[in-house]
Amino acid sequence: MRKNIVAGNWKMNKTLQEGIELAKSVKDALAGKKVNCEVIVGTPFIHLASVVEEVKGSIIGVAAENAADKASGAYTGEVSAAMVASTGAKYVILGHSERRAYYGETSEILKNKVLLALENKLTPIFCIGEVLEERESGKHFDVVKKQIEESLFNLSAEDFGKIVLAYEPVWAIGTGKTATAAQAQEMHAFIRKTLAEKYGKEIADNTSILYGGSCNASNAKELFSNPDVDGGLIGGASLEAAKFMPIIEAFN
Ligand code: PEP
Repeated sequence: MRKNIVAGNWKMNKTLQEGIELAKSVKDALAGKKVNCEVIVGTPFIHLASVVEEVKGSIIGVAAENAADKASGAYTGEVSAAMVASTGAKYVILGHSERRAYYGETSEILKNKVLLALENKLTPIFCIGEVLEERESGKHFDVVKKQIEESLFNLSAEDFGKIVLAYEPVWAIGTGKTATAAQAQEMHAFIRKTLAEKYGKEIADNTSILYGGSCNASNAKELFSNPDVDGGLIGGASLEAAKFMPIIEAFN
């Protein structure tokens, strides 16, 4: 059965000390609590090793927010999937709309990143989603399908089974404008159908598909109660334990 997951994406926030403090406060808030989902914190590269150390012994998994599209070598400033894995992080967020829009990450680049992540035994949390104009012109299903096809459908069924997807309508990210539960369910069901057509029903049913875009304490329960929404990728509301915890607890 697929897993329910609540994953934070800290983006470019928090100094190292602040990040360790935040990881500790999430760990402390979770201590002794029974939670019904996996909990992941996605941190900037420089935080990874320290946050992995801080959350040791807890249920929290750690994700990088990116990794390079090359394995190693003369790529100044880049961080490889192998380097991420060497910190003890188990996940990597790939294809976030901010990376696609501001850093020119194409489907082809993302395809390489996914392969390198898998080679290094990292679980990719692969983001897909349409911009407002694409939704308003009714192209959102085609856009999302193309993003999946171009970066992931080269994978074997076995490797595809290792992927977590995050549907993040770009118009909902950081805007306070959340997709309605019905809009999220409609797209997640479409994504699952697309996966079933390519890889079969079993793999489609076992793939966790997270929703992302202004998800918070007040809308998480309704969003997560949809049959095809398996949790959330959380930006702004993951920056304080007090805001992140109720989203995790939406699964209780
Ligand atoms: C994100 O960046 O992945 C995200 C969902 O951000 P926010 O929750 O702030 O909209």
